Amino acid sequence: MDLSKYSRCLIGNYGAPPVAFDRGEGTRIWDTEGNEYLDFSSGIAVNCLGHSHPKWVSAVQKQASKLVHCTNLFAIPEQARLAERLTAKAGTGRMLFCNSGAEANEALIKLARLYGRSKAGGQEGKVVKIVATEGDFHGRTYGAMSATSGSKVRSGFAPLAPGFAFAKFNELASFQALLDEDTAAVLIEPIQGEGGIRETKDNVLRGIGQLCHERGILLMVDEVQSGMGRTGRFFSYEKAGIKPDAISLAKGLGGGFPIGAIWVKESHADLFQPGSHGTTFGGSPLACAAAHAVLDVIEEEELIEKVALQGASFKADLETLSAKYPDLVQEIRGRGYFLAMSMKVPCGDFVTALREGGLIVVPAGGDSVRMLPPLNATKGDISEALGIIAKTLSTFPTVPKQ
Ligand SMILES: *Cc1c(COP(=O)(O)O)cnc(C)c1O
Repeated sequence: MDLSKYSRCLIGNYGAPPVAFDRGEGTRIWDTEGNEYLDFSSGIAVNCLGHSHPKWVSAVQKQASKLVHCTNLFAIPEQARLAERLTAKAGTGRMLFCNSGAEANEALIKLARLYGRSKAGGQEGKVVKIVATEGDFHGRTYGAMSATSGSKVRSGFAPLAPGFAFAKFNELASFQALLDEDTAAVLIEPIQGEGGIRETKDNVLRGIGQLCHERGILLMVDEVQSGMGRTGRFFSYEKAGIKPDAISLAKGLGGGFPIGAIWVKESHADLFQPGSHGTTFGGSPLACAAAHAVLDVIEEEELIEKVALQGASFKADLETLSAKYPDLVQEIRGRGYFLAMSMKVPCGDFVTALREGGLIVVPAGGDSVRMLPPLNATKGDISEALGIIAKTLSTFPTVPKQ
């Protein structure tokens, strides 16, 4: 397609796109010129079953011909069943559905403020502080943006929502210093996605969990990118053995159909009372059918177990490969199918070179190449990707980082 049309009729907030895609199947995607690529971006962790998985397609088609949307003022059986399936994974509690990651985090932020009011004996505006983490990303809406420390996200939008403080990444003492009697909640990504696949250490997560528990502070975990099996566990926080009070989910949940959700522990599930929150589209029959298909395929194809095993060998192979290019590669991070290769050379140029070699990945954290294969990517797909990465490394110019 004529990409110049883009800048004529679309706002430039995503920058100028390099190619246009019009078809996908499994781990493959084709551009409008007919070139085939191996897609290890999954549309940023969204297409967790790859493109057009037959079971997903048939579930969505079937539901579309039955009932697409009613409203949350009526009962939606698929929504209750989806809530049951997700609470079976998260623990005793209840769900609320929405349409995106930012919206899920907005719901968590509002939950925290309601919780703060209940903690202050019903007085509003006293216990409001939400302690988030430097470098985390929670979305682009006002609350979620205010909960995000990065200047790239916040810049130009002052005044931001008040009541947020930022603890230093991976520093328990910094959380400890900020968690006071005015604090309602902590909001944290167990592994930063946009930040470049940076893991909070298990003992730091456990320490934060302990502090929250002792001080009656909500522990709210953002699993929008890291959830849905991506790290080789259903939720990434499971590795540290912590027990959150609330969780946000989105990206992979609908396998490409927009749906987000929050899970709230049973003891806090009544903070939202009738009329206190809502959304027109959230948890529609169609969105829920898409999410059911994702959960079905994850279970039937035992994808989480495969992601854990194959992700570990993918990471090991990336480490072996990158050791040959100490001038190009800084390090390999992450787990499961949630991996990053941080570069000593401009990462955007490297991402472009990989695409020209036939591999789609996305940058993260300014210096990292993020690899998010669909959860059903096979060993064969991974070795093909490794081949493209090896070839690209072997021909990439070594320019020192400024
Ligand atoms: C992508 C992302 C969000 C925002 O989700 P949107 O669907 O883009 O609003 C929030 N949190 C994390 C961790 C994310 O990766």
